[in-house]
Amino acid sequence: MNIVYISFGSNIGDREKAIEEALDLIDQNQMKITKRSNIYETEPYGYTEQPVFLNGAVEVETKLTCREVLEKLLNIEKEVGRVRKFKWGPRLIDLDIIFFNDEIYDEEDLKVPHTDMQNRDFVLKPLNELCPDIIHPVLKKTIKELLEDLKMS
Ligand code: ADP
Ligand code: MG
Repeated sequence: MNIVYISFGSNIGDREKAIEEALDLIDQNQMKITKRSNIYETEPYGYTEQPVFLNGAVEVETKLTCREVLEKLLNIEKEVGRVRKFKWGPRLIDLDIIFFNDEIYDEEDLKVPHTDMQNRDFVLKPLNELCPDIIHPVLKKTIKELLEDLKMS
């Protein structure tokens, strides 16, 4: 069984509803949700002239491969009705694979661990509730340590 950490965010429309729909679809698509973080309200990252986000993370157990998980998440984003105009722009739901076991993927359209996670407190904070002691396989630091580093930077 694979253990996957997925972060989610929403900043337009009915954000709570979009998140609930996405999590239900995850659970119905061979990805069993085993833990769920609190949901945080966070200021936008990158392009800042847009509404505030709700962010959180889940732990899932699955027999799917990492690529299959990516495909399913992209379909779920579409199904929930994401309107993507430009990178970092407003979105109904964004689903990112943060960790897939302790495996590393460095492909054009699939980078795991997620390449920017260590710079995003809205990813690290929820993750710190789920798995503070997991070691990032590239950076060789725990989530707790990455969060401390980010607070000090
Ligand atoms: P971001 O989530 O960084 O703000 P987007 O959601 O707009 O960016 O990017 C979507 C694309 O990112 C997808 O088409 C997917 O192929 C690619 N991608 C690469 N690595 C991952 C990952 N770990 N999780 C989700 N998508 C990823
Ligand atoms: Mg994404």
